[in-house]
Amino acid sequence: MDEIHVDNLEVFAHHGVFAQEKEKGQPFYVNLVLYTDTRRAGQQDELTRSTHYGEVCHLVTKWMQEHTYDLIETVAETVAEQVLLTYPLVQALDVEIRKPQAPIGLPFESVSVKIHRGWHRAYVALGSNLGDREKYLQMGVEAMKERKDIRLQKVSSFRQTAPYGGVAQEDFLNGVMELRTLLTPQELLDYLHEVEQRAERKREIHWGPRTLDLDILLYDDLVMDSEHLTIPHVDMQNRDFVLGPLVEIASWVRHPVLRMTMGQLYERLISGATAAEAAADSARQSGRIIR
Ligand code: ADP
Ligand code: MG
Repeated sequence: MDEIHVDNLEVFAHHGVFAQEKEKGQPFYVNLVLYTDTRRAGQQDELTRSTHYGEVCHLVTKWMQEHTYDLIETVAETVAEQVLLTYPLVQALDVEIRKPQAPIGLPFESVSVKIHRGWHRAYVALGSNLGDREKYLQMGVEAMKERKDIRLQKVSSFRQTAPYGGVAQEDFLNGVMELRTLLTPQELLDYLHEVEQRAERKREIHWGPRTLDLDILLYDDLVMDSEHLTIPHVDMQNRDFVLGPLVEIASWVRHPVLRMTMGQLYERLISGATAAEAAADSARQSGRIIR
């Protein structure tokens, strides 16, 4: 990825924990690295194909002068968000906020906070088998349009599937969607849970009937396991109602543990993977052994 740098943009602003800092103000210095693709701008010598660093500097200055925060952490976080929301070609950025006159009472040169933020691509599965299933899936889709830090990219068609997991219940309606998001995986999961709650979802029987189920399938090429979150989704390779819709919108996307594309995983599933292959997959997925 190409980089556009801004070094030591000086902004006089009023951030700090102490009242005096908010009143008097002091100089802050901003370093930015914008991660973007400058190839077309470079070939065509055309500013509209790139990100106007002058405008970015003005936006950052205005933002920092129109707001007052206690922490330079918050200054960095909000500046990063503003730039990412405003400039579509910026995929990610580093923001460093330096505060050389911080009230420390000891000799020092400067203190600073530096963060890296960016857009992530996530695939989310939608499922419902209770009540007006289509309405619930649509609620799930619409909820992704409500926030500025989530951008809905694609939605598959919805398909009907017999229930999974051996609990007798109504047929499911399933689909998947592709998102771009500034949220971390855990923040995205929390939001998906909030949306499930809005659909009056009650967590009663595991794999039992539900109005709306929203699962994270993939998040960039991330492989993570925590108490509440496993990415890639631990069972996606065994579910035709997940792989089928994924093939529609992302057949070329590669599973970061199994190293096969969604198209290949789907082909393998419908042609009936051997028991040995399935066992090896499970071992790889649970032990996360990457070969
Ligand atoms: P199901 O396994 O049928 O989706 P739930 O929706 O009730 O069941 O999810 C149970 C828990 O699974 C969630 O509370 C969540 O913490 C956890 N979980 C782990 N990995 C994921 C993931 N990739 N996406 C969504 N939930 C996940
Ligand atoms: Mg779920």
